[in-house]
Amino acid sequence: MSDSPLDPHRAGIDAVDQQILQLLAERRRLVTDIAAAKVQKGLEFHDPAREDRLLAERVAVAREYGLDAGVVVRLWEQILDDSLRVQLTLAGERRLRGRVRSVSYQGAPGAFSHVAARRMFGEDGVEFMGAPTFADAIARVKKGRADAAVLPVENTTSGSIVEVYDLLIANDLAVTGEVRLPVAHRLVGLPGSTLDGITRVLAHPQAVAQCSGFLRGLGAEVVYSWDTAGAAEEVRESGDPSIAAVAGEEAALERGLHVLHPSITDRPDNFTRFLSVAPQRIEVEPGIPTKTSVVLSVGNEPGSLLAILAEFGREGIPLVKLESRPNPDDPWEETFILDFEGNETEEAPSRALDGVGRKARFMRVLGSYPSSDLRPHKRKPVVAPRQHGGTPAEMPAALEVSVPKLARRNGAGDTVVEVGGVAIGGDLDPVLIAGPCAVESRQQVMDCARATRDAGGSLLRGGCFKPRTSPYSFQGLGFEALEMLAEAGKAHGLPIVTEVLSPEHVGPMSEVADVLQIGARNMQNFALLSAVGKVRRPVLLKRGMSATIEEFLQAAEYVLAEGNRQVILCERGIRTFETSTRNTLDLAAVPVLRQLTHLPVIVDPSHAAGSRSLVVPLGRAALAAGAHGLMVEVHPNPAEALSDGPQALLPSDLQLLWG
Ligand code: PEP
Ligand code: MN
Repeated sequence: MSDSPLDPHRAGIDAVDQQILQLLAERRRLVTDIAAAKVQKGLEFHDPAREDRLLAERVAVAREYGLDAGVVVRLWEQILDDSLRVQLTLAGERRLRGRVRSVSYQGAPGAFSHVAARRMFGEDGVEFMGAPTFADAIARVKKGRADAAVLPVENTTSGSIVEVYDLLIANDLAVTGEVRLPVAHRLVGLPGSTLDGITRVLAHPQAVAQCSGFLRGLGAEVVYSWDTAGAAEEVRESGDPSIAAVAGEEAALERGLHVLHPSITDRPDNFTRFLSVAPQRIEVEPGIPTKTSVVLSVGNEPGSLLAILAEFGREGIPLVKLESRPNPDDPWEETFILDFEGNETEEAPSRALDGVGRKARFMRVLGSYPSSDLRPHKRKPVVAPRQHGGTPAEMPAALEVSVPKLARRNGAGDTVVEVGGVAIGGDLDPVLIAGPCAVESRQQVMDCARATRDAGGSLLRGGCFKPRTSPYSFQGLGFEALEMLAEAGKAHGLPIVTEVLSPEHVGPMSEVADVLQIGARNMQNFALLSAVGKVRRPVLLKRGMSATIEEFLQAAEYVLAEGNRQVILCERGIRTFETSTRNTLDLAAVPVLRQLTHLPVIVDPSHAAGSRSLVVPLGRAALAAGAHGLMVEVHPNPAEALSDGPQALLPSDLQLLWG
């Protein structure tokens, strides 16, 4: 290659990276020793207090070295997660692996189930046996011809594989483990065949469901096959270059086929979850992240399922999945498979299961098994936010406001909006949302994200489409800005909030944004409210500048009524006769809303004030009044800002507000 003046520097970087990798490997070895010691002494694997301490210490040192605190936090979060996974694999799965010598799966060699089985049980001395159907794979275990079977249960694109659920219900086997595998389908054919020449495609029905967009576009005849790897096998045997298969890389390579199209899945993040089943349940040591699966039948009396779910709620046990299947013997009874986070031998889950057992018509625990698929435990921000000043929520509402039914506080507890590991509402500590008024450039939004993260902020805001009073003002950089915002959010581990202006944009924007904002000017744009009500993204609804609290809650009701229950209300100042501030911050709205509704309430002091010097005191007052969070504007160089410069905080001001 060419001699570049950069070469010596690159060599230096390569050497440093090499050292980083060596040190990571060394760290992993130490973690293994710790895991062994923990097993011996019966200590908990997951120690959140130690993690928080460690993270804070690393950030302090990182700052001394002039490193970006946000990057260091994200890096160490990954390192800590990896450490927990290493401990989990060691303690839990090794014992299981040791006992399993033969594993059955559905499909031909190289099928995704085969890949999953190898991932779960390793290759050492284990025999893998493909079976024509799921039922055959299970039958092998029942007849003692295999120690375990590995079966797919759900896919992120095509949904649950109900046939496997029915087999789990019908067969008396235990669930012993799970794995989540990225499933990348490719179009594969014989060497020499071309995409244009394909007239027939062989594919498993699940694969067809996951690649429907591509297959429709291809226009070839689609023929169902029993298995992805089996389809590849048929293509090889046919010798016909006009036939292709939908299969995975492994299945194609093993058969000397070549890839005609490398990525044909509808969604790039296509995952399948597989379970391993065996005749006996396994024991998982306490402290290892664990899931438990249960089969349940309840009668059709009103509220019977609710009563069962309440048992888990009472014990504070998170439910991960609830699958419902009709009971073939009794059309009036539903059978459910329920997965929850926890180990059946721990106190709270075993109390919940006792309660469930008394209320259900049928209950069988399929097993508790280690899971690396649970959501990471929430870590407290390194910089602790200020505490709530007021606790008005429980006071009875004697206010003359008529509140619509879904938004109304009704004694059932507060809505907590969850977004990318951040939770807003209820009794939780308040959160900080910060970022530029408008995304202006990659660098500008990246600077804002860093400042937000360093100050202990939880979400990054940024306008991409700006609702400007004058048509001649800067209107935002649109989807280009959205990309920049997403990139900055990813780089600093912050979910992103951005305003959506029109119903047509709701779909595409909700694919990228974590929270959709409805601006003050659109609070009563009912078409827009209905559109955001239909998507699965939290909505940050700002109060209209001349809207009463009742109208504000009615606007929220539009969103709730469409199905979307994750609504955050935002007070941002209203129009009054007062001219010393851009708007008048209606602080009373905070306790009033908290009394009237269960929805989280945050405050935007930036748009209320219109001037930088007022943002910090107003923000503090809002927290004292009981706000669940603040949303503020920040800019690395407010004098040059394309919108709302006078009210933008400097990055250093954020520390003043939140540090
Ligand atoms: C904003 O937050 O970007 C904004 C435009 O605010 P508002 O809708 O409250 O004016
Ligand atoms: Mn603004």
